[in-house]
Amino acid sequence: MRCTVFGTGYLGATHAACMAELGHEVMGVDVDPSKISKLEVGEVPFYEPGLQDMLQRNVDSGRLSFSTSYEEAVGFADLHFIAVGTPQRRGEYAADLTQLLSVVDRLAPLLTEPAVLVGKSTVPVGTAEMIAERARKLAPVGGALEIAWSPEFLREGFAVQDTLTPDRLVIGLASGLSGRAEDLLRKVYQKLIDEEVPIIITDLATAELSKSAANAFLATKISFINAISEICEPAGANVSDLANILGLDPRIGRSFLTSGLGFGGGCLPKDIRALMARAGELGASEALHSLREVDSINMRRRTKMVELARHACGGSVLGARLAVLGAAFKARSDDVRDSPALSVAGQLQLEGAAVSIFDPQAMDNARRVFPTLNYATNSFEACERADAVLVLTEWSEFKDLDPSELATTVRSRVVLDGRQCLEQARWEDAGWRYLAMGLPTIN
Ligand code: NAD
Repeated sequence: MRCTVFGTGYLGATHAACMAELGHEVMGVDVDPSKISKLEVGEVPFYEPGLQDMLQRNVDSGRLSFSTSYEEAVGFADLHFIAVGTPQRRGEYAADLTQLLSVVDRLAPLLTEPAVLVGKSTVPVGTAEMIAERARKLAPVGGALEIAWSPEFLREGFAVQDTLTPDRLVIGLASGLSGRAEDLLRKVYQKLIDEEVPIIITDLATAELSKSAANAFLATKISFINAISEICEPAGANVSDLANILGLDPRIGRSFLTSGLGFGGGCLPKDIRALMARAGELGASEALHSLREVDSINMRRRTKMVELARHACGGSVLGARLAVLGAAFKARSDDVRDSPALSVAGQLQLEGAAVSIFDPQAMDNARRVFPTLNYATNSFEACERADAVLVLTEWSEFKDLDPSELATTVRSRVVLDGRQCLEQARWEDAGWRYLAMGLPTIN
């Protein structure tokens, strides 16, 4: 089969490469020529484990190509995936649909043959219907243009695996159409369906809302354990042991129950805000009051991490040398969008600390956002003469650090584990003072 993918960012480039890996002929389309010129020669413009080899292999085989031309894309296929960004609107909670509308406004007028547009981006419920109407008005084929929504649940860091072996495929369809969209999508996903990946065919609204609800649930789980962590501190309880206890109950599960610096990135924060905004527009804002609390608990984690750093430095970080390990919003990614690690690093610098930062993959992105931090070339260098070391992204490279070796370079053996990812006993045995939110060690 042939298909195109509009938008070749974290989601779109992965989706395009994975569709080619499944045996289809795929063209990725983006408005960013620098991205396309890298992708064309098989180079992934961001870090995603496993993607580089797969992309290169499929570009070399001729199954995967890239272009900035909408005309070329329309001539190439009649199944078009849309994977452009839907960030938070500036100064508002709602999603900014500018990228999505620009795809529709440029693509639809070129459609002179029956075609299917499939949204993969995360959108406020109701967007697909709105897009369908707009596209049909603009498209010369009119009603022969069908819209479906197939939201994406992949995780950065595991994007290839999540696309090729997803937990489920969701396909939202408009009622009263020819069935062509469903046929094409079943064909494109046939290999996954053969491997018994559950497929849920539903209406457009349910498909769109299922993605927002999934992210709202995950965000709630993280903020729940972080709220409990806030109680653990004055109570002298240990949030890490507590999470293990809760997690052993199969009704609860251990995933997303690690207390720490909270969530960030280009999805969870903006998706819960967009959901609250959309609920308000639909007259159902009360249903999601709890998400406001989820958001505020999450943002408080960053403030509390800064407080912990002040505490570790005797009340103020002014003049302290602080090593920050981690800039990406999570491990296995170079994505620094709304990164808790970077926002803590930035705040510490504002309070007068000399911050030296290192991340295995996110240095270039971090430098663009926060050019004034001191960027070290490795963990050891970041920690040179540090008064405290803050581990703010849970990279395995940081978990594997040798605390005895690191002790030789720091000024004070104080480590703040913002992700509860270090082995406390190992660090304490090497003479370190170990601090983490929600653990009795803080007092
Ligand atoms: P991104 O910002 O990395 O990528 C968006 C891409 O779209 C960019 O390369 C941009 O240049 C391109 N673009 C913008 N306007 C365009 C246009 N008119 N035509 C063609 N290309 C255009 O964003 P992302 O992280 O890949 O997210 C994309 C969507 O997928 C969002 O809705 C997001 O919520 C959703 N999503 C993301 C993830 C993830 O882990 N990143 C997971 C699931 C869902």
